[in-house]
Amino acid sequence: MKDSFNREIDYVRLSVTDRCDLRCTYCMPATGMCFLKKSEMLSFDEILFLLTNLADLGIKKVKITGGEPLTRPDTVALIKAIKTIKGIEKVTLTTNGIQLARYASALKEAKLDGINISIDTLDPDEFHEITRVGELKRVLAGLKKAIEVDLPNIKVNTVARGELTDEEICEIASLAKSDAIHVRFIELMPIGLGKGCPGKTQEEIMSILQTTYGELHPFDQQLGNGPASYFSLTGFKGKIGFISALGHCFCAECDRIRVTADGCLKTCLHMDDGCELKEALQTKNKELLFAQVLSAIQKKPEKHHFLESQGDSRLMSQIGG
Ligand code: SF4
Repeated sequence: MKDSFNREIDYVRLSVTDRCDLRCTYCMPATGMCFLKKSEMLSFDEILFLLTNLADLGIKKVKITGGEPLTRPDTVALIKAIKTIKGIEKVTLTTNGIQLARYASALKEAKLDGINISIDTLDPDEFHEITRVGELKRVLAGLKKAIEVDLPNIKVNTVARGELTDEEICEIASLAKSDAIHVRFIELMPIGLGKGCPGKTQEEIMSILQTTYGELHPFDQQLGNGPASYFSLTGFKGKIGFISALGHCFCAECDRIRVTADGCLKTCLHMDDGCELKEALQTKNKELLFAQVLSAIQKKPEKHHFLESQGDSRLMSQIGG
């Protein structure tokens, strides 16, 4: 599928739930979240119908997101089933890691192609403060288990908050030293509760890392679906990556669409648009689904306008990160 800017669209980020077992301060309010009813969320069958048809339209890569996807009881079974869809080449998962120790072996068995684990700090108290309810030791146990069962392509994602100290940045980066896992710093995006939070730029983080670990050498190979730019550090088994949607806009290479947990197709994270696919999925109406997807893709914007306008008013957990 090509959009009107000649970009090949072959990647879908599919949110399977808007629920999460954490309450990160930049993502959700502490109380008063209004979650989707089970009947409003896409069912197992609707997801398979959607992805089978998206594969026919040229989608090859699927990222399972949330909320927190591992809070949905059938996520592993879903991954296993998606892996059998003709045309889908890669299925990856993004998780907060809280339940990962429990699911890592099953995910390996399901032949997951890669996993992103969010870790914003290695300080247990700070982790609890950011997530309001989370225990860092559970996430670290999940990461350890993922390494132990040899899940492929393990990445740690750290939101580049303004509060991160130089020591914390170096400590988090050092996760990529002894194990072949990649650590990525994600620029804070002005979405939902992330609006107004101070962040650190890629350049600031690079300079901190270079002072401690020496020169960062650009690494040109792709390490997954995403738009990260990667660097090698001498003595590190994994790479250091940066995803900087504002500072280093990657919209020109955008290959993605998103589907929310209730079946809304979004062609850009920032845009307050969206096309409701639920009816086509419920009625298994392939023609309607094709028409809706193809028409939405023609309207995909050339780039985000985070710096100029308000954009989508929903929270990150509701859009699917
Ligand atoms: S901001 Fe929109 S256009 Fe840019 S990379 Fe993200 S989804 Fe694609």
